[in-house]
Amino acid sequence: VYPTAALREADARHHWHPFTDTAALNTEGARVIVSADGVWLTDSDGNRILDGMAGLWCTNIGHGCEEIAEAVYAQMKELGYYNTFFKTTHPPVIKLSELLSEITPPHINRVFFCSSGSEANDTIVRMVRTYWQIKGKPEKQTIIARHNGYHGSTVAGASLGGMGGMHAQGGLPIPGIHHIAQPYWYGEGGDLSPEEFGLWAARELERAIDALGEDKVAAFIAEPIQGAGGVIVPPDSYWPEVKRICSEREILFIADEVICGFGRLGTWFGSDYYGLKPDLMPIAKGLSSGYLPIGGVLMADHVSETLEQGGEFFHGYTYSGHPVCCAAAIANINILRSEGIVERVASDTGPYLQQKWLALGEHPLVGEARMVGMVGALELAPAKPDRTKRFEPVGDVGTLCRDISFKNGLVMRAVRDSMIVSPPLVITREEIDDFIERVTKTLDATLSELTK
Ligand code: PLP
Repeated sequence: VYPTAALREADARHHWHPFTDTAALNTEGARVIVSADGVWLTDSDGNRILDGMAGLWCTNIGHGCEEIAEAVYAQMKELGYYNTFFKTTHPPVIKLSELLSEITPPHINRVFFCSSGSEANDTIVRMVRTYWQIKGKPEKQTIIARHNGYHGSTVAGASLGGMGGMHAQGGLPIPGIHHIAQPYWYGEGGDLSPEEFGLWAARELERAIDALGEDKVAAFIAEPIQGAGGVIVPPDSYWPEVKRICSEREILFIADEVICGFGRLGTWFGSDYYGLKPDLMPIAKGLSSGYLPIGGVLMADHVSETLEQGGEFFHGYTYSGHPVCCAAAIANINILRSEGIVERVASDTGPYLQQKWLALGEHPLVGEARMVGMVGALELAPAKPDRTKRFEPVGDVGTLCRDISFKNGLVMRAVRDSMIVSPPLVITREEIDDFIERVTKTLDATLSELTK
């Protein structure tokens, strides 16, 4: 039994929350989560809540995993910390690097470690610019990214991201970042068919390269499926066309795998799902299933070989390759492998969830349901099937639905007026039934609030 009111009061007084309207929080009070097991969270009042977001898209193997706790404890006793600077290494970082080269495509064999996806993307900005300097093309510095993409909260990560609200605070983006359209057919496709729109959005990359000058463009960065932007699943025509453009033009391709990596789409990486061949892949989240903070930059051989020619790369973090975080990640990957979790998402629980989720598209409040692997969205719509009509003001209905969902014992996230989910990959069929029931109840309750 926890003293919820006292905890909330102390939280409001001393804790500054990320991505939170602090004034609103101080009136309402935060939800206090005290423990978790599998797909279930428990709050300080003893309520059980189904974690439909796997924390922040990260607890892929589910909460409360004993093997990870034991691996972490054993590593802490053996070597709780040492760095990897200046020609130093240790067994956990070596083991994890090896494991990653086993599960990534054959052309990726090196990894640089950091503590988060944001740091991974910061690192990448410096890596790609340095790459072209070493190649004797120092003018190639601009990185093309997408509107409504998300690549983290550090200065470079938020600059690569295409979130207007983030850019407005603190004078972002930094110079040398250019944003193009996202492949968001439901919201921005106009009269085009999904396939036509997918081609148009992909060719925005080609048009941007031409407008900026190919000799100025270093790289294109994109999430295989945009997560925080609202689980934007691109039309089928999008990635093949981007692949064509990247193969014809002299630019690096960065697939941000922070959400899509480690089984989320029923493949080890989102790039595997779409048949992409990235030069660099930032990873984090599912790398340790969120048990400890660890991220990394996976590097294609030609990238690591080129950077090697440049002498010392003046970049690194105290916690690059932290042994305890590496131990957590090793245990996590071993569990994903030995329990066949990725395969299960591809061929068993994934299709089971998708079928039920897509059927929610029939609900009177849902304009579109989409899901790949175990990441999905419901576009709430005021006048389905008209895609052009939006709730006014944008976002209020999403927030209402999110709050009702929480009261129904389910975490769903709201992005504008879309409800998005990304449950732990270990969710069982019975839990999926329960999950869908809670979503349906939430949609019904939201609709009845709106029609009151
Ligand atoms: N890239 C993507 C695609 C993400 O979704 C996120 C976080 O949500 C990040 C990068 C940033 O990762 P982190 O929050 O670990 O810094």
